[in-house]
Amino acid sequence: MADDRREELERILRLQRAAFNESRPEPMSMRRDRIKRAMALVKDHGENLCKAMSADFGNRSMHQSMLTDIAATVGAGKHSLKHMDQWAKAEKRKVQFPLGLLGAKAEVRYEPKGVIGILSPWNFPVNLAFAPLMQVFAAGNRAMIKPSEFTERTSLLMKELVEEYFTPDELVVITGGPEVAATFSSLPFDHLVFTGSTATGRRVMEAAAANLVPVTLELGGKSPVFMGRNADFAKAGERIALGKMMNAGQICLAPDYMYVPQDKEDEAIAGVAQGVKNMYPTLLENDDYASIVSDRHFERLQGLVADAREKGAEVIEVNPGDEDFSNANIRKMPLNIVRNVTDDMKVMQEEIFGPVLPVKTYKQIDEAIDYVNEHDRPLGFYYFGEDKGEQEHVLTKTISGGVTTNDVIFHVSMEDLPFGGVGPSGMGSYHAIEGFREFSHARAVYHQPKIDIAKLGGFKPPFGKATEKAIATMMK
Ligand code: NAD
Repeated sequence: MADDRREELERILRLQRAAFNESRPEPMSMRRDRIKRAMALVKDHGENLCKAMSADFGNRSMHQSMLTDIAATVGAGKHSLKHMDQWAKAEKRKVQFPLGLLGAKAEVRYEPKGVIGILSPWNFPVNLAFAPLMQVFAAGNRAMIKPSEFTERTSLLMKELVEEYFTPDELVVITGGPEVAATFSSLPFDHLVFTGSTATGRRVMEAAAANLVPVTLELGGKSPVFMGRNADFAKAGERIALGKMMNAGQICLAPDYMYVPQDKEDEAIAGVAQGVKNMYPTLLENDDYASIVSDRHFERLQGLVADAREKGAEVIEVNPGDEDFSNANIRKMPLNIVRNVTDDMKVMQEEIFGPVLPVKTYKQIDEAIDYVNEHDRPLGFYYFGEDKGEQEHVLTKTISGGVTTNDVIFHVSMEDLPFGGVGPSGMGSYHAIEGFREFSHARAVYHQPKIDIAKLGGFKPPFGKATEKAIATMMK
């Protein structure tokens, strides 16, 4: 079945690569023009894209979608427009003494790679397709996007709009299910960016390996929250609640579980529950609160809670409006705070990606550090507290893709910081200059002077005294 589309996809890739080769060197103005068109596309059709996302989810706040998917994507475009000239500048590099005196020169040129594949997930369907695209374009590439089949309406609309704003040799959107995605990931792109789960990321990397296609993998994982003993639990609770409830917890960087001092557990839980109540007096009829994207995902989340309960956890449902969720049929789920969790519970084994918050406790913060270090390296890491010594201790003893202190998730919204995971939470990064470089090839260029350097340096046979002198100097 998948191979039905292989020929079509390969044809598009060939078309884009031929256009890329033909058009080089392309002026920066062309790159800018593409970024501006991508920005205009999401801006002009923001409302329709948000409606499509809401229909795909069951319910998703228009305001939230405007913020996270439309405005954030435009922001990524603006950032690229502002900095791309600087990013794209060739860099002079040093040459070894005395080559410089003889006229040798070295530089690094950041050149486009060619055609970049972008495979994106459903949780921020517009942003995770178009935000990397801004830097893909800034670096002078063409692109093929394969968005998620779970947000089908949004994917179809993106395809229609891209056909209106771009020629197929610049950008295309390929729709289809997992078979098409698998075929897509096996194409001989010049680079492939994948955002999605760690399990699929593994398959994508395997497929890319067959053609030695370099990959950027933006994956998931269990991002922990550490609460220091002197944290402001009310403030922290509200911030954690925001991060866990936005998009109903379906965020790669959502705080997955929290680690709190044993004697502060009640206070920490009360802080989060109060935070939810402050922002969401009700959930079912509240448009601000998103649905879970699919029945399968909804059942998985219910299963995580049931499994924890069966194995002895205490589950606190935060249901501010005291609503009846049992027959609601719109896949909305209140926050479930789970205490007394153990490692044999699924909720502590897999990324949650929904409104479920396990709580673990520590006597000494080093127990929490050891726990994190014994598990997969997370995408995000969060520390709440005013003790700078403790903050540095936890930061320097752990490893994660990124960090926000005294809040959650926010580091991703800093355009000038790289965004990416480490190990099982991903490899490579985009945003900021790191993103531009990820989608560029750092080409080393050396300019040899007129003088015969090889002879002068003793590199040229017949070998003799000059060679020995060169060896001795090199090893000094
Ligand atoms: P997913 O891995 O199921 O799917 C992502 C994409 O992969 C989809 O477009 C899908 O069509 C495609 N796909 C499916 N099977 C494939 C195959 N065999 N080969 C190639 N591609 C295939 O992920 P999801 O459920 O859409 O998204 C949720 C996951 O994404 C979570 O784990 C979350 O943490 C992660 N995520 C990470 C980031 C980040 O930036 N690091 C951002 C958002 C989501």
